[in-house]
Amino acid sequence: MNGSFRIGRIFGIPIYINLSFLFILLLFVWVFSVGDEVLGVRIGFLNLDAGAEVRYLFGGATAVVFFATILAHELAHSYVAIRYGVKIRHITLMIFGGVASMEEIPSKPGQELKMAIAGPLTSLVIGIISYLMMIVVGGLGSSSVEVEGIEILLGIVGFYNILLAGFNMLPAFPMDGGRVLRSFLATRMSHVEATKKAVAVAKGMAIAMVVFGVLAGFQPFLIIIAVFVYIMAKEEERATVITANLEGVTVRQVMADVVQVVHPDTSVQQLMDVMLTTRSKGYPVVDNGLVGMVTLSDTNKVPKNEAHLRKVRDIMTVDVVTAAPELPAAEAIKIMAQRDISRLPVVDFSGRLVGIVTKKDFLKMVEIVEARKKVSVWGRPGWDQFQQRPPAPPPPQT
Ligand SMILES: [Zn+2]
Repeated sequence: MNGSFRIGRIFGIPIYINLSFLFILLLFVWVFSVGDEVLGVRIGFLNLDAGAEVRYLFGGATAVVFFATILAHELAHSYVAIRYGVKIRHITLMIFGGVASMEEIPSKPGQELKMAIAGPLTSLVIGIISYLMMIVVGGLGSSSVEVEGIEILLGIVGFYNILLAGFNMLPAFPMDGGRVLRSFLATRMSHVEATKKAVAVAKGMAIAMVVFGVLAGFQPFLIIIAVFVYIMAKEEERATVITANLEGVTVRQVMADVVQVVHPDTSVQQLMDVMLTTRSKGYPVVDNGLVGMVTLSDTNKVPKNEAHLRKVRDIMTVDVVTAAPELPAAEAIKIMAQRDISRLPVVDFSGRLVGIVTKKDFLKMVEIVEARKKVSVWGRPGWDQFQQRPPAPPPPQT
């Protein structure tokens, strides 16, 4: 991810810090340093009988410990996921806490439930232990600033971890509670139905949060979180609907089998002329088989006055990700999302280019399948008409 740097590796998972996280870290140092108390619990160092520099030092230490506990929350999710064979690519600490990037989230209800609940449970346990430690330290009866500071630190870490556990158990995507709700619903209906219901709950909660945020004297932070919840819930629904509607569909059924290709010795100028006439933004580069991919953004590598001198081979991507025609469409979409690419050349077992598929092709397919489900009297339509499609002709060469 852009603006992130790596700080280490735990359970074999690389841990990254996003620059946005440093901003929130500083914000928390400030909040802890000037904080007073809530419901009789000291959640800041304001009343610590010491100079400002000591209070800020304690504020900083508390912020670091608190974010270590957020990391523990993410690691708990990841640990359970790894046990179910899910690959975790990385964990990134960013503005809204931590995010674990997983190859796929298990769709078996029981597995998702255990994975989702592991995080809040960890936060709750950390919160309770911190409170107990705070009581023990407070019972020492020491009047030194250091001991009192540690007592407050434990209180803050305990308070925010319990708050974090509670907040994450709200039954709204993308919070863990949303996943818990979805997996609970999925035991009595399909995964897609369960997702749609859970998303509806999340949207309702987001709207309620905005109303409450406005009525309670305009709470900007609450409104930002509500918007975030709303967007993420919709995104979750979209992803699930796509995967479900592409069940049983292979890349061959979605791809375009007539492919405009270019030769590596084509000039960049000629390439741009081809783009103008065919209105596509990316082409497979073919010279006795696929040798690369070239896209509109690649042409920016060449100054416009040199476009007639430079060749496609100078600007093309050589390390090309391809798909086999038999690859399930849902898999292909996943690959495209992970690698952040918008088109995949389709290559058969003999290495021959047989087609090309874009994100748009998949979305079009999803739209058609959705619409067809609604008109079909017989329920879910079969894929027989696709299976009867003749094999793709060889691509035209230029
Ligand atoms: Zn979580």
